[in-house]
Amino acid sequence: MESETGCIEVVILDPVPQSFHYGVHGPIPAKGCRVRVPFGNGQRIAISLGPSPCPGGISLKDIHQQIDTEPLLNPSLMELLEFGSRYYHYPLGGVWATALPTRLGRGDLPGQAPCFWQLASQPPDKSLRGNRRKELLAQIQEQGILSEEGLSSSKLRCLRQLADAGWIEKTTPPRAITRCCPGLPLHRQQEEALAQIRGKQGFHPFLLEGVTGSGKTEVYLQAMETPLAAGQQVLLLVPEIGLIPQLYRRCAERFGSQHIAIYHSGQSEGERLRSWSRARSGLRAIFIGTRSALFLPLPRLGMIIIDEEHDPSYKQQSGWLYSARDLGLRRAQLEKIPIILGSATPSLESLHNRKLGRLHGLRLSHRATSHPTPRIELISLRKKRLQGGLDPVLLEATASELAADHQVLFFLNRRGFAPALLCHDCGHAIPCTRCSAPLTWHRQKERLRCHHCGYEQRLPSQCPVCGSSALMGVGVGTEQLECFLRERFPHIPILRIDRDQVRSPRQLADQLEQILCIRPAILIGTQMLGKGHHFPEVTLVGIINVDQGLYSADFRASERLAQVVIQVAGRAGRGERGGRVLLQSHLPEHPLLQALQGGEYAPAAEILLRERELTNLPPYCALALVLAEAHRAERVQDFLHAAQGILAPVLHTVGPIPALLERRAGWHRAYLWIEAPDRSRLHTQLVRLLPKLGQLPQGRRVRWFVDVDPQNF
Ligand code: ADP
Ligand code: ZN
Ligand code: ZN
Repeated sequence: MESETGCIEVVILDPVPQSFHYGVHGPIPAKGCRVRVPFGNGQRIAISLGPSPCPGGISLKDIHQQIDTEPLLNPSLMELLEFGSRYYHYPLGGVWATALPTRLGRGDLPGQAPCFWQLASQPPDKSLRGNRRKELLAQIQEQGILSEEGLSSSKLRCLRQLADAGWIEKTTPPRAITRCCPGLPLHRQQEEALAQIRGKQGFHPFLLEGVTGSGKTEVYLQAMETPLAAGQQVLLLVPEIGLIPQLYRRCAERFGSQHIAIYHSGQSEGERLRSWSRARSGLRAIFIGTRSALFLPLPRLGMIIIDEEHDPSYKQQSGWLYSARDLGLRRAQLEKIPIILGSATPSLESLHNRKLGRLHGLRLSHRATSHPTPRIELISLRKKRLQGGLDPVLLEATASELAADHQVLFFLNRRGFAPALLCHDCGHAIPCTRCSAPLTWHRQKERLRCHHCGYEQRLPSQCPVCGSSALMGVGVGTEQLECFLRERFPHIPILRIDRDQVRSPRQLADQLEQILCIRPAILIGTQMLGKGHHFPEVTLVGIINVDQGLYSADFRASERLAQVVIQVAGRAGRGERGGRVLLQSHLPEHPLLQALQGGEYAPAAEILLRERELTNLPPYCALALVLAEAHRAERVQDFLHAAQGILAPVLHTVGPIPALLERRAGWHRAYLWIEAPDRSRLHTQLVRLLPKLGQLPQGRRVRWFVDVDPQNF
């Protein structure tokens, strides 16, 4: 029974820790409905948490308006958000605000599900008049079912007239989807993997570890057939927008593009709302998206697939610091469905979970084509004379591959001409005015840019400290490598792919398309290139500078190094001609590089896991970070010391330590590490202690937050 007047509890769509109570006259908005409420001097959109006993002693304001008549999300998705709020210690209202398309957060209504029409079972006993109506009726007769979606308003009017006259009637579209072309005949390992996944009902988490080119995507496509045939929806996540087009193409070839929708942050707000509404009305079966697509309302969700699960982009870096992979697992558990995490280079967390039996391991150890994954040849840079940052051995190999009309790919994870501009006379490296990092020299644009905060300035002609004009670049970025290679190989087409050159996924796709079949050619790229793309004509991969990953203060840097090296190496030799990978380093005898030589990830991952175990780092302990930022360094210190006073008696803390980037965009940054033997202990204590941190007087002068799964420092 709906009560006629009462009280509801709401959270406003902002990271505010408390919930609020409002009075309602009329039907009580159910949990998950939006309401407009008076707040401060204005009004806000809030999410109803449902009816609540009225708190005594205060006079309640009434809500202004109930926006939704039905909850926006289904119960399991609401539960996921509640879990995400507790787990990441982030206010529920902020979680909702992150999970909903912006337009819903502003009070817009979701699109209504379109109607579907078929011929009436008992059409009127007279002839139909009007050519347009006749045409439309013929179209319905031919198609069987006609969807209103995308029809012009005049056609929609026509439809209504036909319906009113009894010629057509509403129907529900068939939901079962079958593939429109057969899949590839699977190789034995694919077959075995698929056999494990197929027919699984309920929560089943899989880790599909398959070397690059082993046919993981083919396994996804065939695994999807079962839920799709049963009329369920499938959610596919990729780490970057740039990876959506190729996955979309493969899904569209297999199942038809009319069943697919995409969702990502590069879409306009209107497009996002439309995709979201299509998800909720069950109108599409296959959803492909990035991190935020995890929160699409899918009433018949039957499977989740998270590709490149190791990718750090699955972790949100500001606001609600969630991991879409970890919450994906939770969503699958709540929805009681299978989930596949796929990667050639799984995260150490997932490998650990597989060891513990929390993930069911599936393996594709060889490529689908006959070419084995290449070995990685280590070249020592010590005492060598480099040209354009390249070792002579690598240059020679490049020349001979190009002479044979092949493609060569260089991986260099540094944009710009040189990572720093240094005064030759006094040694001053020109820093960002707002960050504790040198500015990157972009020679072509004649500018210095900060890659952390976006600050830019004109290229100075003199050293700001001593006035000398002897300024020189230090280190090599992709722009310089390109210049050098153009000079060295003047007749070879060169494509550079980094964020300076490629601004949108569309542009990336176009450029890749162009270069794909030009021979000979050189490709230069940052990590943008290392992810998931196929380059069948590449026979030589040069990995230029990954050494900083070997001695970074970020404990995850070595894991990232191993992943990027294997991923980039995997771009070589996919075609008929096989391939070579050369990695140049000043530390070729480093155990991690030695372990990578075989071209396989597993030996390197073993070393990394052992290291983490010995040093008691995740996944062998639970780690959280309290990060504080302020414009004055002492304030950060004061707050973190006070925080330590609260946390240290119960939890093991280390710090305060300056963040790797000590100052960013004018903010001084430092953190406290918090360690606990396991997550649940960490969590229980944080629930108790974080509110006390919130009450610290020092906290008012800093911006601070907690990250229970820190990925970047
Ligand atoms: P991954 O996702 O593991 O990198 P893909 O699924 O993209 O691998 O497959 C790599 C290449 O191998 C693609 O060109 C794909 O068409 C091909 N391929 C995959 N499975 C098979 C198979 N069973 N038989 C033949 N070719 C296959
Ligand atoms: Zn100087
Ligand atoms: Zn900066």
